[in-house]
Amino acid sequence: MSTREEDIPGYDAIIVGGGPAGLSAALILGRCRRRVLVCDSGQYRNHAAREMHGFLSRDGIAPSELRRIAREQLAPYGVEIRESAVTDVRRGARRFEVTLEGGERLRCRKLLLATGLVDRLPELPGLPAMYGKSVHHCPYCDGWEARDQAIGVYGQGGTGVSLAVNMKTWSDDVVLFTDGPASLSRSDADRLARHRIGVREERVARLEGRDGMLERVVLEDGSAVERRSLFVKAKQEQGADLAERLRCTVTEERGVETVAEHEETTREGVFVAGDASKEVLLAIVAAAEGAAAAFGINCALQEEELA
Ligand SMILES: Cc1cc2nc3c(=O)[nH]c(=O)nc-3n(C[C@H](O)[C@H](O)[C@H](O)COP(=O)(O)OP(=O)(O)OC[C@H]3O[C@@H](n4cnc5c(N)ncnc54)[C@H](O)[C@@H]3O)c2cc1C
Repeated sequence: MSTREEDIPGYDAIIVGGGPAGLSAALILGRCRRRVLVCDSGQYRNHAAREMHGFLSRDGIAPSELRRIAREQLAPYGVEIRESAVTDVRRGARRFEVTLEGGERLRCRKLLLATGLVDRLPELPGLPAMYGKSVHHCPYCDGWEARDQAIGVYGQGGTGVSLAVNMKTWSDDVVLFTDGPASLSRSDADRLARHRIGVREERVARLEGRDGMLERVVLEDGSAVERRSLFVKAKQEQGADLAERLRCTVTEERGVETVAEHEETTREGVFVAGDASKEVLLAIVAAAEGAAAAFGINCALQEEELA
């Protein structure tokens, strides 16, 4: 027997993702007396980081501690949290229908995608043990800790060149590793030379160090370049395919696109916040976007209720 839409448990908003974006939205919506559910599969983008930097009043805090405090502060507002992945979302006649892993179905009036991004790191032997300790990808997150050190940059083409040049803000000693022929344009080669950035085109054999701290980049010809940190260009993919399922516009460059005010996507009633919308990829920006989306969701609900 098929279940009628009215018989499925309902929420004002379901938030998919419990990182800074989703939890921040939950706080605002909870304070708006909304019935809110956060579903979180717990694959946080910054899982490898020991400390989170640049979050006003929380600089240096462990990411897990930020989430613990955030969840504690949600409790008085009755926000529900499920440690569960959302596997499907559909737009029903009047509601969104959300399916959790295991098959349970829920419905909601508005939906917030705060599903983040997943980084695809270069496959370099030695890198996994160093990621988040001495191998990073974001200078705004970890550049200060690498200041004045011997910094390596791993990347190809114009993006590798740009990252290498940008790292000069934090150290004079920067070497670019292209892991194969650099094939630089004349202007990129001039730019690197102008900023005294060395280029190593040999294939990278492995990263060596101790306790997660990089000591040298070993090249395939057996030579080694002493470095204390390495910044890499990571390829990023959406943390979930729910936006595509709902036929929101998603592009490689901009992620899930917003078109309306307050983080609403190309599909009415579907909002996005945090890294999934690929603006500035910082936790405090994700939290701010979560708050803006919650504002938009509450305004949309008020329009329906108080017209
Ligand atoms: C190594 C590293 C270090 C970083 N350091 C810093 C730093 O120092 N300072 C800083 O400001 N930023 C830092 N960042 C960036 C920061 O982590 C992100 O900007 C921030 O986490 C984005 O928050 P978010 O809520 O959008 O996504 P996330 O924190 O990634 O949370 C997304 C959540 O959604 C969940 N999810 C995805 N799909 C589903 C689904 N279908 N169902 C249910 N749940 C789902 C995921 O499991 C995850 O729990 C760092 C990033 C990395 C990778």
